[in-house]
Amino acid sequence: MSAASRPVRLCHLYPGHLNIYADRGNIAVFQRRLEWRGLALEAVEIGLGDPIPGDCHLYYLGGGQDRDQMLVAEDLAQKADPLRKAADGGAVVLGVCGGYQLLGHRYAAAGGQPMPGIGLLDLETTAGKSRLIGDVVMDVTLNGHTRTVVGYENHAGRTHLGGGCTPLGRLRRGRGNNGADGCEGAVAGRTVGTYLHGPLLPKNPWLADTLLGWALDHAGFSVELAPLDDDLEQAAHAVAQTRAGQKR
Ligand code: GLN
Repeated sequence: MSAASRPVRLCHLYPGHLNIYADRGNIAVFQRRLEWRGLALEAVEIGLGDPIPGDCHLYYLGGGQDRDQMLVAEDLAQKADPLRKAADGGAVVLGVCGGYQLLGHRYAAAGGQPMPGIGLLDLETTAGKSRLIGDVVMDVTLNGHTRTVVGYENHAGRTHLGGGCTPLGRLRRGRGNNGADGCEGAVAGRTVGTYLHGPLLPKNPWLADTLLGWALDHAGFSVELAPLDDDLEQAAHAVAQTRAGQKR
Protein backbone atom coordinates (compact mmCIF):
# COMPACT_ATOMS: atom_id res chain seq x y z
CA MET A 1 0.00 0.00 0.00
CA SER A 2 1.40 3.44 -0.83
CA ALA A 3 2.07 6.09 1.80
CA ALA A 4 -0.68 8.22 0.25
CA SER A 5 -3.35 5.59 0.89
CA ARG A 6 -2.17 4.55 4.38
CA PRO A 7 -2.79 7.21 7.03
CA VAL A 8 -0.51 8.26 9.85
CA ARG A 9 -2.45 7.34 12.99
CA LEU A 10 -2.65 9.82 15.85
CA CYS A 11 -4.12 9.09 19.28
CA HIS A 12 -5.45 12.26 20.95
CA LEU A 13 -5.73 11.54 24.67
CA TYR A 14 -8.47 13.23 26.71
CA PRO A 15 -9.53 15.93 24.23
CA GLY A 16 -12.50 16.60 26.55
CA HIS A 17 -10.29 17.37 29.55
CA LEU A 18 -6.83 18.41 28.35
CA ASN A 19 -7.72 21.03 25.79
CA ILE A 20 -7.32 24.52 27.21
CA TYR A 21 -4.70 25.84 24.80
CA ALA A 22 -6.31 25.29 21.41
CA ASP A 23 -4.75 21.84 21.44
CA ARG A 24 -6.85 20.85 18.44
CA GLY A 25 -4.82 23.47 16.56
CA ASN A 26 -1.76 21.26 16.99
CA ILE A 27 -3.67 18.27 15.60
CA ALA A 28 -4.90 20.39 12.67
CA VAL A 29 -1.29 21.33 11.88
CA PHE A 30 -0.24 17.67 11.76
CA GLN A 31 -3.22 16.90 9.52
CA ARG A 32 -2.79 19.77 7.06
CA ARG A 33 0.99 19.41 6.75
CA LEU A 34 0.49 15.75 5.81
CA GLU A 35 -2.38 16.53 3.42
CA TRP A 36 -0.36 19.22 1.66
CA ARG A 37 2.12 16.44 0.82
CA GLY A 38 -0.54 14.02 -0.38
CA LEU A 39 -0.52 12.07 2.90
CA ALA A 40 -3.29 11.58 5.44
CA LEU A 41 -3.84 11.66 9.20
CA GLU A 42 -6.34 9.51 11.03
CA ALA A 43 -7.01 10.84 14.54
CA VAL A 44 -8.53 8.66 17.25
CA GLU A 45 -9.87 10.41 20.35
CA ILE A 46 -9.48 8.55 23.64
CA GLY A 47 -11.29 9.51 26.84
CA LEU A 48 -11.62 8.22 30.40
CA GLY A 49 -11.99 4.45 30.48
CA ASP A 50 -11.35 3.96 26.76
CA PRO A 51 -8.74 1.37 25.82
CA ILE A 52 -5.69 2.93 24.25
CA PRO A 53 -4.71 1.71 20.78
CA GLY A 54 -1.13 0.44 20.72
CA ASP A 55 -0.66 0.87 17.00
CA CYS A 56 -0.67 4.66 16.64
CA HIS A 57 2.35 6.50 15.31
CA LEU A 58 1.76 9.66 17.34
CA TYR A 59 0.23 10.19 20.81
CA TYR A 60 -0.85 13.64 21.95
CA LEU A 61 -1.69 15.00 25.41
CA GLY A 62 -2.75 18.64 25.66
CA GLY A 63 -2.89 21.22 28.42
CA GLY A 64 -5.26 21.33 31.38
CA GLN A 65 -5.79 23.02 34.70
CA ASP A 66 -4.92 21.15 37.89
CA ARG A 67 -8.51 19.94 38.33
CA ASP A 68 -8.61 18.49 34.80
CA GLN A 69 -5.26 16.79 35.32
CA MET A 70 -6.59 15.33 38.56
CA LEU A 71 -9.57 13.89 36.66
CA VAL A 72 -7.42 12.08 34.10
CA ALA A 73 -4.28 11.18 36.10
CA GLU A 74 -5.47 7.84 37.53
CA ASP A 75 -6.97 6.80 34.19
CA LEU A 76 -3.75 7.73 32.40
CA ALA A 77 -1.77 5.68 34.93
CA GLN A 78 -3.80 2.64 33.76
CA LYS A 79 -2.65 3.37 30.22
CA ALA A 80 1.03 3.78 31.15
CA ASP A 81 2.12 0.29 30.02
CA PRO A 82 0.69 0.40 26.48
CA LEU A 83 1.93 3.97 26.08
CA ARG A 84 5.44 3.03 27.19
CA LYS A 85 5.38 0.03 24.85
CA ALA A 86 4.34 2.28 21.94
CA ALA A 87 7.06 4.81 22.81
CA ASP A 88 9.70 2.10 23.18
CA GLY A 89 8.63 0.78 19.78
CA GLY A 90 9.31 4.16 18.15
CA ALA A 91 6.01 6.04 18.37
CA VAL A 92 6.10 9.80 18.93
CA VAL A 93 4.58 11.14 22.16
CA LEU A 94 3.96 14.87 22.55
CA GLY A 95 2.74 16.38 25.82
CA VAL A 96 1.93 20.06 26.22
CA CYS A 97 1.80 21.84 29.59
CA GLY A 98 -0.55 19.81 31.82
CA GLY A 99 0.05 16.83 29.51
CA TYR A 100 3.80 17.38 29.77
CA GLN A 101 3.63 17.29 33.57
CA LEU A 102 1.74 13.98 33.47
CA LEU A 103 4.41 12.43 31.25
CA GLY A 104 6.76 12.77 34.26
CA HIS A 105 6.73 10.75 37.48
CA ARG A 106 4.28 12.95 39.39
CA TYR A 107 2.74 16.38 39.70
CA ALA A 108 2.17 17.90 43.14
CA ALA A 109 -0.45 20.60 42.66
CA ALA A 110 -0.91 23.32 45.26
CA GLY A 111 -2.69 22.02 48.36
CA GLY A 112 -3.50 18.63 46.87
CA GLN A 113 -2.30 15.08 46.90
CA PRO A 114 0.48 14.53 44.35
CA MET A 115 -1.04 13.00 41.24
CA PRO A 116 0.70 10.17 39.44
CA GLY A 117 2.37 10.65 36.10
CA ILE A 118 3.38 7.83 33.80
CA GLY A 119 7.14 8.27 34.01
CA LEU A 120 7.74 8.34 30.27
CA LEU A 121 9.91 11.36 30.98
CA ASP A 122 12.30 11.29 33.94
CA LEU A 123 11.06 14.45 35.65
CA GLU A 124 8.78 15.67 38.36
CA THR A 125 6.77 18.79 38.94
CA THR A 126 5.67 20.71 42.03
CA ALA A 127 3.41 23.76 41.94
CA GLY A 128 5.07 27.00 43.00
CA LYS A 129 3.43 29.98 44.68
CA SER A 130 3.40 32.12 41.53
CA ARG A 131 2.61 31.38 37.91
CA LEU A 132 5.24 31.55 35.18
CA ILE A 133 3.52 33.43 32.36
CA GLY A 134 4.67 35.04 29.12
CA ASP A 135 6.29 34.74 25.72
CA VAL A 136 9.05 32.21 25.24
CA VAL A 137 11.86 32.02 22.70
CA MET A 138 14.26 29.12 22.84
CA ASP A 139 16.83 27.22 20.82
CA VAL A 140 15.93 23.60 20.17
CA THR A 141 18.24 20.95 18.74
CA LEU A 142 16.64 17.85 17.24
CA ASN A 143 18.03 15.47 14.62
CA GLY A 144 21.28 17.47 14.80
CA HIS A 145 19.63 20.73 13.68
CA THR A 146 19.15 23.77 15.91
CA ARG A 147 16.20 26.11 15.35
CA THR A 148 14.38 28.80 17.27
CA VAL A 149 11.05 27.74 18.73
CA VAL A 150 8.51 30.29 20.00
CA GLY A 151 5.44 30.05 22.19
CA TYR A 152 3.66 31.15 25.31
CA GLU A 153 3.76 29.67 28.80
CA ASN A 154 1.32 29.83 31.71
CA HIS A 155 1.93 27.37 34.52
CA ALA A 156 2.41 27.13 38.26
CA GLY A 157 4.37 23.90 38.03
CA ARG A 158 8.14 23.88 38.50
CA THR A 159 9.57 20.95 36.63
CA HIS A 160 12.93 19.37 37.41
CA LEU A 161 14.52 16.87 35.06
CA GLY A 162 16.37 13.72 36.10
CA GLY A 163 19.20 12.12 34.16
CA GLY A 164 16.91 10.08 31.90
CA CYS A 165 15.87 12.95 29.66
CA THR A 166 17.36 16.14 28.29
CA PRO A 167 15.87 19.65 28.04
CA LEU A 168 13.99 20.36 24.83
CA GLY A 169 15.17 23.97 24.62
CA ARG A 170 17.66 26.49 25.95
CA LEU A 171 15.79 29.68 26.78
CA ARG A 172 16.49 33.04 25.22
CA ARG A 173 13.30 34.50 26.71
CA GLY A 174 10.86 33.08 29.22
CA ARG A 175 10.88 31.09 32.46
CA GLY A 176 10.68 27.52 31.17
CA ASN A 177 10.70 24.42 33.34
CA ASN A 178 11.29 26.05 36.69
CA GLY A 179 12.28 29.70 36.24
CA ALA A 180 15.81 28.92 37.39
CA ASP A 181 17.90 26.72 35.11
CA GLY A 182 17.33 28.29 31.68
CA CYS A 183 15.81 25.14 30.25
CA GLU A 184 12.42 24.35 28.78
CA GLY A 185 10.66 21.08 28.13
CA ALA A 186 12.16 17.62 27.91
CA VAL A 187 13.02 14.95 25.35
CA ALA A 188 13.72 11.24 25.68
CA GLY A 189 13.86 9.35 22.40
CA ARG A 190 10.76 10.44 20.52
CA THR A 191 8.86 11.55 23.63
CA VAL A 192 8.71 15.33 23.84
CA GLY A 193 7.18 17.54 26.52
CA THR A 194 6.91 21.31 26.60
CA TYR A 195 5.17 24.13 28.42
CA LEU A 196 4.75 26.02 25.15
CA HIS A 197 1.29 26.43 23.80
CA GLY A 198 -0.77 28.99 22.12
CA PRO A 199 -0.87 26.47 20.25
CA LEU A 200 2.67 25.23 19.71
CA LEU A 201 2.86 23.94 16.15
CA PRO A 202 1.31 26.60 13.84
CA LYS A 203 4.16 29.02 14.61
CA ASN A 204 6.84 26.31 14.61
CA PRO A 205 6.55 24.38 11.33
CA TRP A 206 10.07 22.96 11.67
CA LEU A 207 9.11 21.31 14.96
CA ALA A 208 5.85 20.02 13.44
CA ASP A 209 7.76 18.47 10.53
CA THR A 210 10.42 16.97 12.80
CA LEU A 211 7.72 15.18 14.80
CA LEU A 212 5.90 14.14 11.61
CA GLY A 213 9.15 12.82 10.16
CA TRP A 214 9.60 10.60 13.23
CA ALA A 215 5.97 9.43 13.00
CA LEU A 216 6.36 8.61 9.31
CA ASP A 217 9.57 6.72 10.02
CA HIS A 218 7.77 4.72 12.72
CA ALA A 219 4.93 4.06 10.27
CA GLY A 220 7.48 2.62 7.87
CA PHE A 221 6.99 5.23 5.15
CA SER A 222 10.13 6.06 3.26
CA VAL A 223 8.99 9.52 2.22
CA GLU A 224 10.86 12.79 2.41
CA LEU A 225 8.66 15.61 3.68
CA ALA A 226 8.74 18.06 0.78
CA PRO A 227 9.28 21.73 1.77
CA LEU A 228 6.06 23.75 1.99
CA ASP A 229 5.35 27.42 1.46
CA ASP A 230 5.61 28.45 5.12
CA ASP A 231 5.61 32.24 4.63
CA LEU A 232 2.56 32.71 6.85
CA GLU A 233 3.89 30.39 9.53
CA GLN A 234 7.29 32.11 9.48
CA ALA A 235 5.58 35.52 9.72
CA ALA A 236 3.69 34.32 12.82
CA HIS A 237 6.97 32.97 14.21
CA ALA A 238 8.66 36.35 13.62
CA VAL A 239 5.80 38.25 15.30
CA ALA A 240 6.11 36.02 18.36
CA GLN A 241 9.86 36.67 18.47
CA THR A 242 9.34 40.41 18.15
CA ARG A 243 6.73 40.41 20.90
CA ALA A 244 9.16 38.56 23.13
CA GLY A 245 11.77 41.23 22.43
CA GLN A 246 14.06 38.91 20.51
CA LYS A 247 13.84 40.49 17.06
CA ARG A 248 13.07 43.79 15.36
N1 GLN B 1 -1.95 22.94 35.99
C1 GLN B 1 -0.62 23.04 35.56
C2 GLN B 1 0.15 24.23 36.10
O1 GLN B 1 -0.40 25.30 36.31
C3 GLN B 1 -0.61 23.05 34.05
C4 GLN B 1 -1.44 24.18 33.55
C5 GLN B 1 -1.49 24.27 32.13
O2 GLN B 1 -1.67 23.29 31.37
N2 GLN B 1 -1.37 25.51 31.80
O3 GLN B 1 1.33 24.09 36.30
